[in-house]
Amino acid sequence: MIGHVVIVGGGTAGWMAATYLKATFQDRLDVTLVESANVATIGVGEATFSTVRHFFDYLGLAEEEWMPSCNATYKLAIRFENWRGRGEYFYHPFERLRTADGFTLADWWLKLGPHDRRLDEACYVLPALCDAKRAPKRLDGTLFHNSLHDGGDRPRRTTMFQQDTQFPYAYHFDAALLAEFLAGHGTRQGVRRVLDDVVDVRRDERGGISEIVTREHGPLAGDLFVDCTGFRGLLINKTLEEPFESYENVLPNDRAVALRVPVDTEPDGLAPYTTASARDAGWIWTIPLFGRIGTGYVYSSQFCTPEEAEAELRSFVGPQAADAEANHIRMRIGRNRRSWVHNCVAIGLSSGFVEPLESTGIFFIQHGIEQLVRHWPDQGHDQVLAQGYNESVARCLDGVREFLVLHYKAAARSDTPYWKAADERELPEGLAERLRLWEARLPSGSSVYPYYHGFESYSYNVMLTGLGRAPQRSHPALDLLDPTAARDQFADVRRQAERLAGELPSQYEYLAQLHG
Ligand code: FAD
Repeated sequence: MIGHVVIVGGGTAGWMAATYLKATFQDRLDVTLVESANVATIGVGEATFSTVRHFFDYLGLAEEEWMPSCNATYKLAIRFENWRGRGEYFYHPFERLRTADGFTLADWWLKLGPHDRRLDEACYVLPALCDAKRAPKRLDGTLFHNSLHDGGDRPRRTTMFQQDTQFPYAYHFDAALLAEFLAGHGTRQGVRRVLDDVVDVRRDERGGISEIVTREHGPLAGDLFVDCTGFRGLLINKTLEEPFESYENVLPNDRAVALRVPVDTEPDGLAPYTTASARDAGWIWTIPLFGRIGTGYVYSSQFCTPEEAEAELRSFVGPQAADAEANHIRMRIGRNRRSWVHNCVAIGLSSGFVEPLESTGIFFIQHGIEQLVRHWPDQGHDQVLAQGYNESVARCLDGVREFLVLHYKAAARSDTPYWKAADERELPEGLAERLRLWEARLPSGSSVYPYYHGFESYSYNVMLTGLGRAPQRSHPALDLLDPTAARDQFADVRRQAERLAGELPSQYEYLAQLHG
């Protein structure tokens, strides 16, 4: 039986892993987390994926407990600006497509239009709430979406992924404050927190890790070691020498520069979405938190220098950014060949990472932790379990890689060398074939990347049409169907969107109440 887990690293990955394992195994498992006061965390990672809600539920943390401590806000969608052409935008919302007569509203939109109304506007309720800067909840805490139980009561203790639920929102939060909040929660639940530097890692006779050696606290032994040391991969790459497989041939953005910009939230209102704004050599994220925005330029060093990127970002943000200190980051894009080797499991940036265009970093962490529990080993560290884990992690990252490559391939821009190269770049295996299929038919469950990676066919529909790559012709079967049910659905979406945009409180009003 595994009795003691040692986690190295106290960023988002380390603390999410520690709190999740404690919530799962409670006093039957000892969890020690070692973090360095000298090695900084990455300091970004502030927009999430909607499955993160299940993580907080699993820990039994209600929004009113953690959101105010982390300056958190709601995220209903990602708003893509300038990806199709300058000045154009569309939303990728956390909302599944409705159907009429067995075909999705996306299929019906291609057939019936109106095409001057964007697909996301016509088929979804959330874009209207984004434009109107609404909260997804009423002031009494109930969710707008009446088909989901929420009610503002205590969180349900969920188990593992709830892949059948599409939760209609995610969060933005301050990454440093979240790690600190989870550290407080974890230590109260019994996680041992050791503030120290790991200066050596010792191997056992089977090739695994026997103990880590810290500067002040000496050696620390464990049954299972979780590497959460970020891009360094101290245990998995440096000690166990597991190779890292780069994705840079298909996703060349390898740098970012980030700023934390204070804003006066009230007069501006609080946008309930992340913005990804395409620029000449990459794209800029804007993440609205309560009291500041997090922003950063993700770019390729082949097309832009750090100085040019910082200047571009500062001019994009304007005078508010004058005093903000720039954080320049080199990104390691790709994944370990295996994230679980012997008795060491890498979670977070040490396992793998793709640029944050769809806010998947924390999603990968959550997926990794949940899969770890599913594949939980005993002292023998059965490599079949490790293999199952490694497949699931690799597929998840590879699937997201493919989805992100699609963003660049489908983007209608070719106005700078960066965007021209994006159109000509090689594609991951399988995507070229799928793109051919999607030229004839919108993506469906059976034609997208076939393994779990967090994205469903509706996301592919939204991105392809939003970026300007929808099929030229609608599904021929619709020519033979009565469109009445579809028209009713469109009218329903429109009515609901207008009603909710008028009825729901602004995100600022809701959060001002929550933050007290
Ligand atoms: P880190 O934050 O780097 O933490 C590493 C930890 O290891 C630190 O505590 C450090 O002290 C410790 N450590 C290292 N060496 C030692 C040692 N020798 N001894 C002891 N301790 C040690 N994800 C999202 O979900 N949404 C986003 O919007 C998003 N945006 C991103 C933007 C950029 C530019 C980047 C690079 C990443 C982004 N991510 C995003 C990913 C997200 O930031 C990470 O997944 C998340 O922060 C987890 O990081 P981590 O804990 O793995 O590593």
